[in-house]
Amino acid sequence: MHSAALDILRNIFGYPSFRGQQQAIVEHLGEGGDALVLMPTGGGKSLCYQIPALLRQGTAIVVSPLIALMQDQVDALREAGVAAAYLNSSLAADAQREVEKQLLAGQLNLLYVAPERLLTARFLDLLERTEVALFAIDEAHCVSQWGHDFRPEYRELAILPQRFPAVPRIALTATADPRTREEIVERLALQDARQFISSFDRPNIGYRVGLRHNAKRQLGEFLLGHEGESGIVYCLSRRKVDDTAQWLAESGIEALPYHAGLDAATRSKNQQRFLREDGVVMVATVAFGMGIDKPDVRFVAHLDLPRSIEGYYQETGRAGRDGLPAEAWMIYGLSDVVTMSQMIAQSESADDRKRVERQKLESLLAYAEATDCRRQLLLGAFGETYPGPCGHCDNCVAPPKTWDATVVAQKALSAVYRTGQRFGSGHVIDVLRGEETERVLGLDHHRLSTFGVGADMDEKQWRSVFRQLLAAGLLEADAEGYGTLRLTAASRAVLGGERLVKLREDARPERASRRKREASRVASGSLGIEAYEQSTWDALRALRTQLAKQQGVPPYVVFHDATLLAMLRAMPANEDELATISGVGESKLKRYGRDFLAVINSPQ
Ligand code: ADP
Ligand code: ZN
Repeated sequence: MHSAALDILRNIFGYPSFRGQQQAIVEHLGEGGDALVLMPTGGGKSLCYQIPALLRQGTAIVVSPLIALMQDQVDALREAGVAAAYLNSSLAADAQREVEKQLLAGQLNLLYVAPERLLTARFLDLLERTEVALFAIDEAHCVSQWGHDFRPEYRELAILPQRFPAVPRIALTATADPRTREEIVERLALQDARQFISSFDRPNIGYRVGLRHNAKRQLGEFLLGHEGESGIVYCLSRRKVDDTAQWLAESGIEALPYHAGLDAATRSKNQQRFLREDGVVMVATVAFGMGIDKPDVRFVAHLDLPRSIEGYYQETGRAGRDGLPAEAWMIYGLSDVVTMSQMIAQSESADDRKRVERQKLESLLAYAEATDCRRQLLLGAFGETYPGPCGHCDNCVAPPKTWDATVVAQKALSAVYRTGQRFGSGHVIDVLRGEETERVLGLDHHRLSTFGVGADMDEKQWRSVFRQLLAAGLLEADAEGYGTLRLTAASRAVLGGERLVKLREDARPERASRRKREASRVASGSLGIEAYEQSTWDALRALRTQLAKQQGVPPYVVFHDATLLAMLRAMPANEDELATISGVGESKLKRYGRDFLAVINSPQ
């Protein structure tokens, strides 16, 4: 059993060893046990049911909510020589009948189906007449109302153990929230399933958060470190998406927009190009990303604050699925807090939902303003204790300087209080700085005791203070969304002198000159391709693109970057040597071996 699983891993998938808990899961399922698997994106969930599917008699039925993803998974399996198919509404009727025929004839190792299809009486009857190896329920958090992708039809999957009591089930999700996990167990009747919970750390992702001074210039500088790489740039609004994509395109970067306001054809075309070409940057709203399984996304950039830590972690998690170095980069400003508060206030949600959303925004702000290891904070948000420091986030690499801001905070809070908790930071800062604006004079605010007590600091410094007080929960933006500031329960302790306030010194905008940065960089961004390797690397990628085009699949279905990189470094001279490279299975060796060897061994 044990070595059979390892044989499949090596021969079919071409990987030398299991990762993390994969082997335990594969064995447990192979022996007929039920399992609940929590693993971060890119952790390697698919193999957890794909290998048992090959170990066990019959066809494994994989329930997946994402039609686009099914096709990719099936393409990848077929490339590896596995008999896989999918059934969903995108297939023509005769193609569907053909798949059903193969299923009944026992010719399929894996069949991917959408939940609504699986649950039809007709399909369940079909399954009664087939040998089912196992049920895999992917994206299992869709069963949870608490989670973010609730799908009512997922609830009905609870009938599977009743109709097929002897068939093992595995439910998989990348959602770490304990509440969602409980709901999955309950809703899918997995009380007796063994739980496999992996760490949600994504060690290959580096985290960086900065203040927004000039979004375009900052993004431009960031992208200099990622030339020719695929990445996603998230913006809050459609207009900003269009604007940023256009600006990047004009600067010579392959950038495409994606948001719900574009017509379906354009969206689909842009998504296809992102998946099928190397080095495309997708500028998008959060509408983009669900079901995008591209392994070689090298960076995710946020030009605005996302809605919550969960959202941020999911979005940044789309980088570096292949385990190679990747970067999560975010810039934000005080105005984000106001905009987000307004969006929450003006949404149609019920009041208690709005309260939850405000709490989520606050914890995200605390993350953004953190002075300690960001990874520790992120994982802490998912109930995981990470010892830290990680050495791979901006705060670990260059610990921010902090200063004692207790008196300054007292001035700020008291100015908010004295002006009646009815104004935004702009007006309060005017009062603090002693500016005799029309509004200040009109409201008689120049007579307040706090008028001018903060004249020793400029407006920018004050904005930084207000932003951080908001992030620390010492001030709150009004629930109605006008951007007015109010004291919180925690403010009292500061005003009363019982609580000290430490704030970070805002880093000055990086002014590293382009040339200096370019000189210090190796030839190609994250992957550390050296200049002398560049032409071979480009040739390998070009060959991959060409082969992928011929077969109508994304390049990573042919070989991942990690595999190309291993080829580049190992320079295999013949098929035997090529076969030892991670990601080169028997079927791909036969199909592509000669072409890749030719490129590797041709004088560049
Ligand atoms: P998830 O579904 O958890 O996001 P995937 O199953 O898509 O992750 O796997 C992420 C990537 O890691 C895939 O490209 C997969 O081929 C690769 N992978 C998975 N398991 C292994 C392994 N044992 N060795 C090497 N690569 C692996
Ligand atoms: Zn860190």
